[in-house]
This record gives sequence, structure tokens and C-alpha cells, in this order.
Amino acid sequence: MDKEEIKEKLFLRLKKYCEIETTSDPNSKTYPSTKSQVYFAKILLKELRSIGVKDNFVDEYSYVFGKIKSNCKSKIKIAFIAHMDTSPAYSAKDVKVKLHKNYSGGKIDIGRGVYIDEKNCPPLKEHLGDDIVTASGNTLLGADDKAGIAIIITFVEYIIKNSSSIKYPNIRILFTPDEEIGKGVDKLDLKKLDADFGYTIDGDLKGRIENETFNADGLKIKIYGKSVHPGSAKNQMANSVRIASDIISSWPENMTPENTDGYDGFIMFDEIKGDVSYAEISGIIREHDIGKLKKMEKLLEKIIEEKREKYPLSKIEYEIFTQYRNMKIIIDKNPEVMDRLIEAVKEVGLNPIIKPVRGGTDGSRLSFMGLPTPNIFTGGYNYHGPYEWVSLDSMYKAFEVLIKLSEKWAL
Ligand SMILES: [Zn+2]
Repeated sequence: MDKEEIKEKLFLRLKKYCEIETTSDPNSKTYPSTKSQVYFAKILLKELRSIGVKDNFVDEYSYVFGKIKSNCKSKIKIAFIAHMDTSPAYSAKDVKVKLHKNYSGGKIDIGRGVYIDEKNCPPLKEHLGDDIVTASGNTLLGADDKAGIAIIITFVEYIIKNSSSIKYPNIRILFTPDEEIGKGVDKLDLKKLDADFGYTIDGDLKGRIENETFNADGLKIKIYGKSVHPGSAKNQMANSVRIASDIISSWPENMTPENTDGYDGFIMFDEIKGDVSYAEISGIIREHDIGKLKKMEKLLEKIIEEKREKYPLSKIEYEIFTQYRNMKIIIDKNPEVMDRLIEAVKEVGLNPIIKPVRGGTDGSRLSFMGLPTPNIFTGGYNYHGPYEWVSLDSMYKAFEVLIKLSEKWAL
């Protein structure tokens, strides 16, 4: 396969997709949240048809589906998934895509005074000689996740063209709306997809693959105080505002998001509202290990118990609710999904880096819906802002990974 030719295809697709604005909107009442995604879904459907995917459709929620029959004995059905929207955190209006060929070190001038170099973005060091794609300083790029879409479509086009020499299983293609606002699979009917296993192509630097997310719980603390005139409050008042701040400041600082990374969990209190007579605290609890998650919750409970004793005139209620769970639990039950991916990454000459996601992914929800779905790199970085960039050479590697991976599932 001619690498430069494939890179050219990847670039042209990426450019075309990024220049179509598809920002999702967390405040929208519709699904998908923005009309631009309805439009983009139709463009992608057309493109699937043009590369020879005969079985294809867009449903009423703008999920784009494509299906290709196995060209060998394999009965297995593997889905390749990417999302169509870009983050509402930054503008994607009039994205102007720039190609910086053959990165030779030093500054990459994105435009409008924005630049990246090895100091503000150390991973660039590993991309000497690569062709780097950016926007132009006033928008995000949208490689998250249009690089994923470009990789999937270029891969599918390639295997259809070369079906006499490349073996592949039943392939399923899925493009989803509204991932960035946490609703990527809200309206997804897995029966329509009809797959055994899935892979999202929505990661970052080359070689990184992800099979692990946080276990996530939410918390709510309700404080019923006792409001009396401050002039005669001695031994009479329970001030909910002060009790709330006491609870929050009693939580160990080394277990907060701003002081943790890697595998370390945290609690983030993200809202307080109320007055003397009543206050409410909300927050999120995050940890990769379910046992450690429960331990943190025990610790919070202990702190609340202490406050109940300290403020006997108040009543403090405490509630924890499940948000999502670490997809590793599901993926580990189907070890071949990761094993084959790891082999495929090695076979294209990369060192697989298995990275825990400090968040949730569509893959984690899909896994618990019954479709074990790890995540594969696209080669992009610095998402959701003007510093976003993607290496075309890394995108090419991801393309190669998909080919190797489908060959493995064809055995
Ligand atoms: Zn993404």
C-alpha cells in the first residue's frame, strides 16, 4: 500500500469534515442537538455509498450505519465507531485547516499568535518528520473525532478495493452524534448495529489504546439547619452555609481532581447552594478501582458522621448514586477484544500504551449496553481548543491498525 497516497486521502477527508461545523449543544432539546449534525450525517452516508458500502442508512436520530459482509468464513461482526460532533467548549465556525509538512522541530505557527512547540506540547518531540494538521488559531480543529471518521472511511474503502488480498470479518460502521455532550449513545438501538464487538476510534497519541474508564458516582448532601436571629443565636443556630463549607474543607486535598492524575481517584464538590436554614452540596466521585471508590465513599460518610455530632441542631442527609462503571469489567470478560488489538498495534511497529481514561467514553456505555468497546488512537492531541493538532503519519498508523485488526478477526 502506498503510504503517501493513503495519507493524502486521510488528509482530504479530514479537511472536508473539519470544515463542516458540527458543534453539539448541551442546552438543546432535540436529538441530535444541532441541525449541522443532521446535515453531516447525510454527507457521510453519501460518502459510504460512494466507496461501495451497499448496506447503509441514517436513522431518525442521525446515527449513520454501514455494513459490509465478511469475505471469508468468519461469522464475527466487528463495529468501528466514531463521533460526528465537536466540543461546544470552543468555536468550530469556519475552520481553516492547515497542513504543516515534515515537522522539523521548533515552533508550529498555527496563526493569530497561537503556536505549539516542544515546550508547551512535549509529545511533539516524538513527531519529527511527520505531517501535522492544525486549524488557524481561532477555532478548534475537530480531529476529535473527525480524524476517527476519516480513518474508518479510508480503511473501509481500502479493504473493499483490495478484497481479493485482504481478509475481513463482517464489518459494521457507526457514526454517532452528540458524544461531546455525553449523549452519544442515548438513542442508539444496538439491534440496528448488529455487532459482536466494537472499537471507537477516538483516542489521542499514536499507540495509545484504552480499555478502562472511571467508576463514577454522584453525591448529594442535604443540610437542614436552624435559622434564628443572629443576635440571640448562641447555642440555638445551626448555620447550613457554614456546615456545608466545613464538610467540603474536611475532604483531603490530595483526593481532589486538581491534585490527582493517572490511577488516582477523587471527589469533586461542584456545587453549593443554600442559606442558613438549608444548603445542598453536589459532587462527583471518580475512581478506576471499584473497591477504592467504595473506600472514598466510606471516608466521606465518616466525615459527615463527625459533622452530625459536631452540629447536633442540624440534620444532614447524604445520598450517592451510580453514574457509570469502568468498562474494563466487561472488556476483561472478552479478552480477545483487547488481545487482538494489542497484537495489531505491535504488528504496525508501535508499542501499545494502555492508558486509563480519566472520564467516561461512549465505549464505556456501549460496553455495559452489551457491546464491549475499547478505544483506539487517532493521532490527535490538545483537543477542544485552538492548540488541537493531529499527525497524519499517526492517522496512517491507526489506519494500518484497523487493517491488521480486521485480518485477525477474519481468522
Ligand atoms: Zn472524541
